[in-house]
Amino acid sequence: MRQFEVNTQRRICTVDITHQVRQAVRDIGLESGAVLVYVPHTTAAVTINEGADPAVQEDILAKLTELVPHGAKYNHLEGNADAHIKSTLVGVSIVIPVEAGNLHLGTWQKVFFCDFDGPRTRKVFVVALPGK
Ligand code: ZN
Repeated sequence: MRQFEVNTQRRICTVDITHQVRQAVRDIGLESGAVLVYVPHTTAAVTINEGADPAVQEDILAKLTELVPHGAKYNHLEGNADAHIKSTLVGVSIVIPVEAGNLHLGTWQKVFFCDFDGPRTRKVFVVALPGK
């Protein structure tokens, strides 16, 4: 397993971590199989989506904010209930196939760390799942 940190700049944002995940796969030395990318947080998430047009990320965050507004009435009194809900909607892990030592992503796919209660220093774990 490898881990790296992500420093987020805003309360709600996505950060392209494709390069760090690719580097983690190289450091692990995994040639074939898959990697589990896991975020050990309750107000953050990880997802794969388009990385070519930044408007896609803006649309995703805007729609999540519309669905689960910050500051609406929630039972959780810490003030970040929306961030917990967004984390569960998006999810804290993904699995990416690895072939010939590289991530087998589609042409437009990038890996995004999602912060819903930043800015913070966050952790990402990359776990090798060897296979053929
Ligand atoms: Zn909370």
